[in-house]
Amino acid sequence: MSGFSGPYNVLEDVVRRAYDRVILEFPEACTCEQCKTDTLSLALNELDARYVGSYSGETRVRVELESTQSQIDIWLALRKAIQQVNRRPHHDRV
Ligand SMILES: [Zn+2]
Repeated sequence: MSGFSGPYNVLEDVVRRAYDRVILEFPEACTCEQCKTDTLSLALNELDARYVGSYSGETRVRVELESTQSQIDIWLALRKAIQQVNRRPHHDRV
């Protein structure tokens, strides 16, 4: 039997990986832990969570998230979140 510990949001993992690529388009953006966490939170709130409870569910959702439309949605949500955080970086607030 599998030792899957869920529910697990596959989207979060996919968005974290996409962040590393999208952030390269914004050389001026701050990439400190706080700004990165804020950006990921904003992007994840924008998108529909994809929780799964098994390895087979995870595989199915990963394939879905690789579709062109999903990739575009993730890309747009990240770009928007990066620009939003960049305008008002959380690290400046006390
Ligand atoms: Zn920062």
